Amino acid sequence: MTELELRDLRKTYRARGRPAVDAVRGIDLALRSGELLGLLGPSGCGKSTTLRMIAGLETVTGGDILVGGASVIERPAQQRNIGVAFENYALYPPLTVAENLAFGLRARKRAHRGDVDRKVKEIAERVDLTGILDARPAGLSSGQKQRVSLARALVREPDVLLLDEPLSHLDAAQRDTTRRELKRIQRDLGHTTILVTHDQEEALSLADRIAVMKDGVIQQLGTPYEIYDSP
Ligand code: ADP
Ligand code: ADP
Repeated sequence: MTELELRDLRKTYRARGRPAVDAVRGIDLALRSGELLGLLGPSGCGKSTTLRMIAGLETVTGGDILVGGASVIERPAQQRNIGVAFENYALYPPLTVAENLAFGLRARKRAHRGDVDRKVKEIAERVDLTGILDARPAGLSSGQKQRVSLARALVREPDVLLLDEPLSHLDAAQRDTTRRELKRIQRDLGHTTILVTHDQEEALSLADRIAVMKDGVIQQLGTPYEIYDSP
């Protein structure tokens, strides 16, 4: 089943007194349920813009975005059930890590306190946050913040997960652990995921398919084997 579909998706940034920027110039893509797509390409090719449009954090210039077969472009971000871990998608400074994780969950599902606590604890264990649940974002390293962002995206059990360089601030050891945990989470929970990365090893070990973007379009699409073995 197709879980996420992009149809001729486009974005042109227009600001007064500046030339228009065609950041995304017609993307067609279909992800089946549970698939993890690695999105690669040079800086400025339109990866983040694509993710932000899917998440509802950026308006769409043209085309359509379907989740579970239904168009979501008219829906605000909170009504899309899409989990995002973006570098500049900030944590709430006044809240502890545990409260940051619980926040979206309570707001969205009106879940019972006990259920929320259990889910937060479970995800915290998976991404190694148990020691810092009572800390506040300002006191965390960038690697820790990154893992909190990842946990916050996961805890909502979204239909679609969007990860923008989720391991970039981790040290080598932690990157290995988190990458393995991501793979396990993906297998256990089966999120349909787009993962933006520069890291070839990350793409190879995690992705079912890889899309290579350039200048706002997808230039290559295939399995990691097809992408990395092609001349
Ligand atoms: P990537 O994530 O692949 O680095 P981006 O989606 O961030 O690419 O950017 C694609 C293009 O759109 C770049 O030329 C970038 O400068 C431009 N761009 C991104 N965000 C904006 C914005 N808010 N306003 C104007 N141009 C933007
Ligand atoms: P990324 O490559 O991860 O998108 P960028 O440094 O390109 O990171 O963008 C960081 C922020 O700056 C984004 O919110 C983006 O919308 C904004 N931005 C990027 N390029 C431009 C631009 N040319 N004009 C205005 N805003 C921009």
